[in-house]
Amino acid sequence: MNILIVEDEQALAQALAQILKNNGHYTDIVYDGISALEYADGFPYDLVILDVMLPRLDGFGVVKTMREQGNSTPVLMLTARTTVPDTVTGLNAGADDYMTKPFDTSELLARVNALTRRTGEVILNKLTYGDLTLELDNALLCSKHGSVHLSYKELGVAKMFLANPTMTITKESLIVKVWGTDADITDNNVESYISFLRKKLKYLHSAVSIKNIQKIGYRLEVSEC
Ligand code: CA
Repeated sequence: MNILIVEDEQALAQALAQILKNNGHYTDIVYDGISALEYADGFPYDLVILDVMLPRLDGFGVVKTMREQGNSTPVLMLTARTTVPDTVTGLNAGADDYMTKPFDTSELLARVNALTRRTGEVILNKLTYGDLTLELDNALLCSKHGSVHLSYKELGVAKMFLANPTMTITKESLIVKVWGTDADITDNNVESYISFLRKKLKYLHSAVSIKNIQKIGYRLEVSEC
């Protein structure tokens, strides 16, 4: 899962990121409320872990704005305050759950799992690999740097790659799956579409690239950054 951590106490933010990373999640960290909104708007996270007391805009303001903008990403609020009114404020503002600091690792992971399970239906409409998310419903290819719209055939090609991210995809299988067996199409056409997708990956500053596997086809590759 891709999780955005919004927490101005840097040591706590790093600790959270480490725990989540150890459990197979990807994380981004931001330290204030305005940056949180920018990140949440720019990338389809599976979960936002959101502190209440933050510089620039507090956690209540962040979740309220996200919901007003139509962003339905689950939000887990972290609060040092244990009073009922604050909890109610958070949930009224659109948070899905809250957790009081300090918390233990197992409690955090249990809540993260519960909240990310809730988005299961949405996840079926998305394919993710490396820093890329492909939204199948609206043909959008996204990285944390932005998103691009794909044409119908580009979507078909991208879907083949992201559904089989570690496999070598042959030109023949792309032709059959994307264009169909009756299609009058050559390897050159496939190469054109690969080149379109490469341009879009470059535009997204993605760590994922399409590698040529000589005489066979293509495979995705993620560069370390
Ligand atoms: Ca804080």
